[in-house]
Amino acid sequence: MGKPTGFLEFTRELPAKRAAKERIGDYNEFVERLPEQKLNEQSARCMNCGVPFCHSGCPLGNIIPEFNDAVYRKSWMEAYDILSATNNFPEFTGRICPAPCESSCVLGINQPPVTIEEIEKHIIEIAFDKGFVKPRKPNLRTGKKVAVIGSGPAGLAAAAQLNYAGHHVTVYERDDAPGGLLRYGIPDFKLEKWVIDRRIALLEEEGIVFKCNSNVGGNVSINDLLREFHAVVLAGGSTIPRNLDIEGRNLKGVHFAMEFLKQQNKRVSERPVEGEPIFATAKNVVVIGGGDTGSDCVGTSNRHGAASVTQFELMPKPPESRTHAMPWPTYPMVLKTTSSHEEGAHRHWAIATKAFIGDENGFLKALRVVDLSWKTPANGGPAKFEEVAGSEREIPCELALLAMGFVHPQHDGLLKQLDIDLDERGNVKANDQSYQTNIQKIFTAGDMRRGQSLVVWAISEGRECARKVDEYLMGSSVLESKDKSY
Ligand code: FAD
Repeated sequence: MGKPTGFLEFTRELPAKRAAKERIGDYNEFVERLPEQKLNEQSARCMNCGVPFCHSGCPLGNIIPEFNDAVYRKSWMEAYDILSATNNFPEFTGRICPAPCESSCVLGINQPPVTIEEIEKHIIEIAFDKGFVKPRKPNLRTGKKVAVIGSGPAGLAAAAQLNYAGHHVTVYERDDAPGGLLRYGIPDFKLEKWVIDRRIALLEEEGIVFKCNSNVGGNVSINDLLREFHAVVLAGGSTIPRNLDIEGRNLKGVHFAMEFLKQQNKRVSERPVEGEPIFATAKNVVVIGGGDTGSDCVGTSNRHGAASVTQFELMPKPPESRTHAMPWPTYPMVLKTTSSHEEGAHRHWAIATKAFIGDENGFLKALRVVDLSWKTPANGGPAKFEEVAGSEREIPCELALLAMGFVHPQHDGLLKQLDIDLDERGNVKANDQSYQTNIQKIFTAGDMRRGQSLVVWAISEGRECARKVDEYLMGSSVLESKDKSY
């Protein structure tokens, strides 16, 4: 263990961020790096608990007390070895994970938890700086070929693991560059795209082939892939957004969040932007939906120079005790405050949009909204809402962004052509023990299987699915199981 009294001596400290006013002038990341001395102190706060709940709090089973100990001893190579044994892409999770590990940190019962996410990001960035990160090439090739459809974190993790197991892996991506939502959903101010390019270059060096602009079920035939490959992994994500089908939905100025975010990501990457340009500049913007996608719309709208940015959430504001004192363990994603909110946004809780109101030219000019009152029935059961009488009103809005989550993967095209089984929510059906669909050589992982989720879960699913594919191809697997890393 690093320092038995560390948690008594040091308080939680996060790196500085560029000031909100300054950082909304560009799309770059704004969290600075901690000096080694500070990292050393922060890692010393880990209590090396007898039962480290952070292990199971992390969907990847990251071996957190051990890497904290290595950081404390400034043994960076060892810290990198421990971290990369369970996580293929700590540079992604270290930047954008809501850190369920920190919500499981035992220190968090009566003090702020260990800064596990920041420590993770620093381990991998220092490992890159020091030249420790090398392509992980397989020792031998099996002669088996696997196609991975989709290059988000689930597809990339599955590809990395399958390649390491010795199979020839080709990743098919319908967009013009690999990365999935990491590239074209999540804005650069959370994850600059050179971070993805650096990892893709390593994966290519390891032997993985990427075929972009390849829409399987469109310009690439799934039947051809089924003939050519011994196994196929579907990792196409959950791409169909939840709609708000109310009066005025078709007005100009009402868009799905992803239409807006993808365009801006492409602009920053200097790639061609498709569709009519959507800008928040000088507009009153309302973002409908309180999750990660919504807060990315807030941050992007402020960078466009919106006149005002307002975010709506149907749910009531969480009690102060949940947001500040953080009872242990809590799930971190619930209606959280993000760095985008620090940059300026009015947040409205327990509010519903009843209509989009347009001007004579068909442009959005206002929203009709109503306050909600949430009540838990006396006999238990889930809370229900009622409209607050007399609270209906109009608020000015020229750009409304719908960020209410994703319902399931796209069914048209690939999935319909395969006539594959779907679960009751419309996701591709496969359980989390086998990751195998009803079609024998087809497996699935990530948001396409579990529904919209998190990057850390996508990586975890990609790894676990790869092990099952390896077992299917070889009879047993050389890849570590998550359960064995405890
Ligand atoms: P995706 O990342 O969606 O990748 C799927 C890929 O498959 C896409 O590139 C798609 O083009 C490709 N594809 C689909 N069909 C085909 C086909 N037929 N042929 C070829 N290619 C195909 N999670 C976090 O943990 N932290 C965050 O801060 C965070 N922010 C988010 C912000 C936004 C705006 C959104 C939308 C999501 C966010 N998430 C966040 C969630 C996270 O991005 C997803 O859970 C994760 O990316 C899912 O990974 P995936 O690999 O399953 O799918």
